[in-house]
Amino acid sequence: MLLQKLARFFSSDIGIDLGTANCLVYMKDKGIVLSEPSVVARVNGTKEIVAVGLEAKKMLGRTPENIKAVRPMKYGVIADFDITEAMLKYFIRAAKEKLPMHKTLIRPRVLIAVPSGITPVERRAVQDTAERAGAGDIFLIDEPVASAVGVGLPVSDPTGSMIVDIGGGTTEVAVLSLSGIVTKHSLRIGGDEMDAAICRAVKLKHNLGIGPRMAENLKIEIGSAFPQDDEENIYMDAKGFDLINKRPKLVRITAKEIREALNDPVKSIVEAVNNTFEHCPEEISGDLLERGIMLAGGGAMLRGLDRRITEATGLPVFIADDPLHAVANGTGIILQDVDRMAKAMALAEE
Ligand code: ADP
Ligand code: MG
Repeated sequence: MLLQKLARFFSSDIGIDLGTANCLVYMKDKGIVLSEPSVVARVNGTKEIVAVGLEAKKMLGRTPENIKAVRPMKYGVIADFDITEAMLKYFIRAAKEKLPMHKTLIRPRVLIAVPSGITPVERRAVQDTAERAGAGDIFLIDEPVASAVGVGLPVSDPTGSMIVDIGGGTTEVAVLSLSGIVTKHSLRIGGDEMDAAICRAVKLKHNLGIGPRMAENLKIEIGSAFPQDDEENIYMDAKGFDLINKRPKLVRITAKEIREALNDPVKSIVEAVNNTFEHCPEEISGDLLERGIMLAGGGAMLRGLDRRITEATGLPVFIADDPLHAVANGTGIILQDVDRMAKAMALAEE
């Protein structure tokens, strides 16, 4: 018992948003201490890590032959265990460096947000990986719950709230009430698929090969899910490789082209939202009509997505103030709550 108390004093709780695109670490009493792309660069055929996070992302698609930059998480689950472990280790270590010395001695308690669609085997894998990466007690929480808590939805109230979290690899749609998930839909389509759709469209129309980073830039700079005013005059020059002449080329791409390219993935997301809404119990649908839908995750920032979802569902749609931090902030709030509950229980014991 004493040992447990001591451990609690020395360790520090952290929350992790292990996203396909970005990994964030929340540290109790400090807030978000780390936010980096989920990318690792390593020497081909070995386990030697060259760079992790932002530094590694810059290398994506432009590494020399002997180095490979990869994203170890795909569709919200771990595609490569070794690399994910190395990445988690790096992030947990980097977060611990922000602690005073006496708090670094003991493994931190870790709360990890995982996509709600993952299988028990995948859950186990996340847990094992975190353990090997240096975590102490490990708790997993459904990502949409963390996201909803993070954006301040009243999840414990007896009213329905809908959260749609659009990440790199997945879109999580969930309806929550009384701290539980009433209905949910986890879709393996998100920002990555949008980027891939842009690559395909640019290749088809302009015979121009562009990389995923260029595609992501086009999406962020001029992409949309709903027609914008004057969208044929909004443009960006895309750098790529002319597939016919086999040389680098610059092509002017309009916002309209990008919107059209994004139509399929956007349609899938909108359909998932609609399906989830249609599967709600009637009382809850009534709540949602009144309270609307909250969008979070990086994809929430796609222009006009709120409008597109409103047109399809008839529901009001809101965009979280800080969509990229929703899940990490949620883990922080939940950690604080767990602590309060633990303290209340300890008091009851005494
Ligand atoms: P994950 O939870 O999978 O790590 P994030 O919530 O961090 O994902 O969101 C990352 C995704 O959001 C990426 O696909 C990125 O391209 C996309 N994104 C970021 N900013 C924007 C924007 N302004 N418009 C559209 N998509 C965006
Ligand atoms: Mg996420």
